[in-house]
Amino acid sequence: MKNTNVQMIKNFIGGQWVEASTERRETVPNPATGEILAYVPLSAREDVERAVVAARAAYEMWRRVPVPRRARLLFVYQQLLVQHWDELARIITLENGKNFAEARGEVQRGIECVEFACGAPTLMAGTQLPDIATGVESGMYRYPLGVVGGITPFNFPMMVPCWMFPLAIACGNTFILKPSERTPLLSNRLAELAREAGIPDGVLNVVHGTHDVVNGLLDHPDVAAISFVGSKPVADYIYTRAAANGKRVQALAGAKNHSIVLPDAELDAAVKNIINAAFGSAGERCMACSVVVAVGAVADELVRRLVGAAKQLTIGNGLEEGVFLGPVIRQAHKNKTVAYIETGVKEGAELVLDGRNAPAAAGPGYFLGPTIFDHVQPGMKIWTDEIFAPVLSVVRASDLAAAIHITNQSEFANGACLFTNSPGAIRQFREEIDAGMLGINLGVPAPMAFFPFSGYKKSFFGDLHVNGRDGVEFYTRKKMVTARY
Ligand code: NAD
Repeated sequence: MKNTNVQMIKNFIGGQWVEASTERRETVPNPATGEILAYVPLSAREDVERAVVAARAAYEMWRRVPVPRRARLLFVYQQLLVQHWDELARIITLENGKNFAEARGEVQRGIECVEFACGAPTLMAGTQLPDIATGVESGMYRYPLGVVGGITPFNFPMMVPCWMFPLAIACGNTFILKPSERTPLLSNRLAELAREAGIPDGVLNVVHGTHDVVNGLLDHPDVAAISFVGSKPVADYIYTRAAANGKRVQALAGAKNHSIVLPDAELDAAVKNIINAAFGSAGERCMACSVVVAVGAVADELVRRLVGAAKQLTIGNGLEEGVFLGPVIRQAHKNKTVAYIETGVKEGAELVLDGRNAPAAAGPGYFLGPTIFDHVQPGMKIWTDEIFAPVLSVVRASDLAAAIHITNQSEFANGACLFTNSPGAIRQFREEIDAGMLGINLGVPAPMAFFPFSGYKKSFFGDLHVNGRDGVEFYTRKKMVTARY
């Protein structure tokens, strides 16, 4: 589709909009229409070098700016984000496809991260003991690390970068963001608003591209730490390479989140929550529910209701009123999802709702209707792999212990949910489940910014998570001073 208003995206380095040093670029289509929104440059190592030089120079100034003054700039930034809320949400829907209400929610999540970072003076405070021995005192002081690199996925163009740079810079670091090449527009707007808030040149930089930029950051001796969010294979690669280069690294990865439904659950509420968690944002959430484990007699009725509710979902362009299910991010991702649906059928799972038949799936845009498989067995590819699309698998289990066992066999361990009214079952679930973020009678248990985002197993590589106290620990290092006067 033609669009006369196509943007040429630039990098943001040292407070300036600069062209990438290469001619290589990719198109950025609107996934709901296929219309080209922009061209994103595939920057080279030289561009990374330029950004590191700018960030390194800014760091020498920024680390000396008193923490309350840094925090005050973040308060201004928070106000600007609030003022531009709808504009930011519109950009998210345009480049990512999620519906406008979800995009507004994502902006809120981003703003909450900035609000948390505004507490930097308290968060960065050290600890002292005035008398470790007679006349001798000892204290811990917290300092920034230097230049930090952030590499982010397409599915949360605002929230995930905001997990990183507001806290990193509040702690006195300078930051180079490498956003997803599939959703590059929002990050440039975030950088523009940061400049408007008075955040000094070079403190926040954006370099667009793919693996050349990533490798440039991973290998650069002046980059002290790497924050990454994306798929498992890339997280594994980033963790290994960054650690081998002596960097501090946190790499948040993929997921396969199970929701267990017990026979005593409030079914109306469970169905509503699961539908939202499975098909919201077209299933492109690391906290999406991709497997339901139906326990005992509830299974037939639950599947019947899930199919009924999924059939009611409105599919279309997320900017249109009343649309729930937008497109997936690219045609290639749609093709991959269709291949998974074919695999599920071949593996013998029962396809009870086929999203390939939804009228919108004929295009334009990369739409797929909600898809539900029943009688899925652990070990099938549709159970093991993260499909990251509106595809839900239902596994049946005899009791809670069996359901927990099935859930714990997944190599991923981001989130898990339980629907029940039984306190005993809730306790058993909390104690036995092997996942980092648990939900009870809700579908998407994503923690707020003042708590860590806490996946493990193959959903996370590293030790300190993003957000909360962990985030502060990640973006700072400690000096111990022991003194006799
Ligand atoms: P992705 O791994 O394809 O890309 C993430 C980033 O890595 C992008 O910036 C991309 O340019 C870069 N990248 C991709 N391939 C690379 C390579 N070979 N070498 C170097 N860099 C490379 O992920 P995505 O498709 O953008 O995002 C979806 C994934 O992110 C899902 O797996 C989802 O579960 C995960 N995710 C996880 C969390 C979490 O908190 N655990 C949150 C959001 C998304």
